[in-house]
Order: sequence, then structure tokens, then C-alpha cells
Amino acid sequence: MLLPSAHPTSPPKTLAEAKDRIASIHQCVTSAETLPLQVCAGRCLAQGVVASIDIPPYNVAAMDGYAVRSADLDAEGRADLRVIGEIAAGHPSYRELGAGEAAHIYTGAVIPPGVDRIIPQEHCVRSSTHVAVRARIGGKPHIRLSGEDILSGQKVLEAGTRLGPGQISLLTALRVEHVTVRRRLRVGLLSVGDELAETGSSAKHGGIVDSNRPMLRGWLEELGCEAVDLGIISDTSGLVLQALIDAATNVDLIITSGGASIGPADYLPRLIVSRGSLEFWKLNMRPGKPAGFGDIDDCPILALPGNPFAAAAAFTLLGRFLVRRLAGTVETLPLRLPLARTITKEGGYLQVLAGKLAASDAGVTTVEPFRQQGSASLLAIGSADGLILFPEHRHQLAVGEPVEFVPF
Ligand code: AMP
Ligand code: MG
Repeated sequence: MLLPSAHPTSPPKTLAEAKDRIASIHQCVTSAETLPLQVCAGRCLAQGVVASIDIPPYNVAAMDGYAVRSADLDAEGRADLRVIGEIAAGHPSYRELGAGEAAHIYTGAVIPPGVDRIIPQEHCVRSSTHVAVRARIGGKPHIRLSGEDILSGQKVLEAGTRLGPGQISLLTALRVEHVTVRRRLRVGLLSVGDELAETGSSAKHGGIVDSNRPMLRGWLEELGCEAVDLGIISDTSGLVLQALIDAATNVDLIITSGGASIGPADYLPRLIVSRGSLEFWKLNMRPGKPAGFGDIDDCPILALPGNPFAAAAAFTLLGRFLVRRLAGTVETLPLRLPLARTITKEGGYLQVLAGKLAASDAGVTTVEPFRQQGSASLLAIGSADGLILFPEHRHQLAVGEPVEFVPF
């Protein structure tokens, strides 16, 4: 198969430029659908959500204690009051509290009419019929007011928010039954290489098991995508091209690993040029330099390097950004953490280092670059907490200096 050379026209060179290019070409491609909340964990909101009730929905007791009227308290905050009954959570009382009366009340119970203060249990001495209370002068009334957390009409979640357990809890409390979410992004995953074997297959000499696909599948699922397994294809240009053409009609994004570098059997960049357009390739970063991006038959394709740590780094730094862009999910804020030790490098490229979170002597969370790094290191993938970015223009980062850290 005769292939053109792989030279993107005016390609971005840095990671930041590559992300800008992705953002300038691609936007959200996933349509919206309205579904019961229970099936929406991990989905991304297509529309923001506005509260239609107040939270709390009623004025409720914030403590276990006695419900009283402040007018009954003397100048020291004391009173001896007749106990008229108990008010438990879920069992509201509609009887107005009269002068000289108190009610034993529990956390979460609705405040009855007439009551403007709860005296916490520990400041009360109970007899069979009465309770001696002592309110702290200037103390809190220990009542959670209706709407004090959320007011009806308030926007509580923005479009693009992923629905995790916290968001599901919030929406459930707001009695939201259906939400408008985006369908899951379908991402085709393909591994390329003659040496690759499926998990569990018998080892052949010179072969290795494909460990990139399970890694990428896991991360894609964490991002809320539907991973479509396209298997392993050998280093044969015609077969790789056919697999890509077939996938392009069936998924929103293709992610490959292997065969993206400059060797004679690395067909991906040339295949992308021959069938679509190659937007960038060979970014100014290490590891991850061979990562290429473009489209095949109008389906975006991210070609990751085969080396496991390089694939992990390129996916974490570029793949996640691309997935969020196409899926309509908001980008996460960058994290900066102090370095646990000084590091140096030569040259003007972005160095991506495996890093582990650690605590400094002062108890501050720091990030420690691994002593042993390498684009092929599986140990780094398995034991790092994430990636430390050592910027292009820097030659040394000093201990304690805040550095960008991207968690795995
Ligand atoms: P390549 O990017 O195809 O030149 O591959 C670079 C290195 O990564 C080679 O040592 C490959 O054997 C290895 N490699 C490629 N694909 C995978 C994969 N899916 N899982 C694990 N290692 C891989
Ligand atoms: Mg290869």
C-alpha cells in the first residue's frame, strides 16, 4: 500500500496549542435525552438544573432538645417550662406552643407554631412534667430555616456537570425524577502491533499481552464513555485502515495505541493523512511525543504511542480533554502541588513525570517524582498517583515549588 508522508500543515507543537486546536475544531457531539434519575449516574447534564422546592422544605430542629418560645426566657436565658409532649422527625405537631410550655423535639422534626428556639438537650434538666432550660445569651436558635440551604428557583447544577454520588443525592433531595443528560460518548479502542496478544492467550516468544486497551477502557468508563472494543490489529497498513474505516461509521471517536511513531511499520499517521487530515503529530512533550490527532472519514482519531507510560501520559493529557470536549463535560481545574524534591532537565520540551503524593514534614501534601521514569514503564502507571508536568521553558524545578499535577 503506497502511503503519503505524514506532515500535518501548520501543526500545533505544544500541549497547550494542541488542546486549543482540538477545541477550535471540535465541540460536543452527544445528543441530549431525558431519563429517570436512577439510571443517570456517571452521565453529564445537557441542561442545568433549577430547584423547584426549598431545602430544607420546612423549618426543622437542628439539634435534639426542647422547643421553646424566647419570650418565656428570663434575662439569663432560663425558664422552667411545662412539657406538652414529644415531636419526632417525620411526626409534625400542628398545636401552637403556649406561654410557659416546651416540647421535647428531635433533630429533623418540623418546628411547631409559636416556637422560635431549640435549647439543646445538654442545657436542659428534665423532671416528669417540667424542664428547666438554660439558653446561652446570644446563642444560635438551633433551627434550620426552610430554604436556608437551597431556595426554590435557584440554579443548583450547571450544564456539563457529571452526575456523581453527590449530585445524585442533591437531585434526589430536590425530588427531581428525570434529568436531561447527554448520551454516552462512544469511543472505539484499537491496539496495533504484531507482537500484541489478548489477555489470557498463551504467551508466544516475542509477544506481549495488550495492556493498553484495558487501561484505556477503564479510564474511558470512568469518564462516562461507552468503550467499543475494536481488538488488536497487526502491523499491516491495509488491515489497520480497514479497521479504522469500519470504526468511523460506528463511534464518535477512535483511540488507537501503537504504530504511531516513525518506524516503517508505524502506519497510523500516514493512514490518517491518506484518508482524512492529520492535525498534529510529534508534540513537544516526552513521553507521549508520537501522539497524533486528526480524523478518518470525519471521525476524530487520537493515535497514542504504544509504550504504556507514553500512552497513559498522552491519554491523560490529551485524550481526556478531547473526550470531555466531545461529550460536553466541563473541564476540571488544574491542580498545583509543591514538589517533594528538586528536579532538572535539559532542553525545551514538556517533560511528563510519574509522581506520587506524599506528606512533607510539615504535613503538607506534596508530589514526589519517581526516581526511575520511562515511556515503557508499567510500574510507573501502576504505582503513580498521576503526572507531574515539567514545563517546556524550565530547566529546574525546586523543592517546594508548586507544579502542575494531573491525577490519574
Ligand atoms: P509502538 O508505538 O508500536 O512503536 O510500540 C512501542 C512499544 O510499546 C513497543 O515495545 C510495543 O511492544 C509496546 N506496545 C505497543 N502497543 C502496546 C499495547 N497495546 N500494550 C502494551 N504494550 C504495547
Ligand atoms: Mg508497534
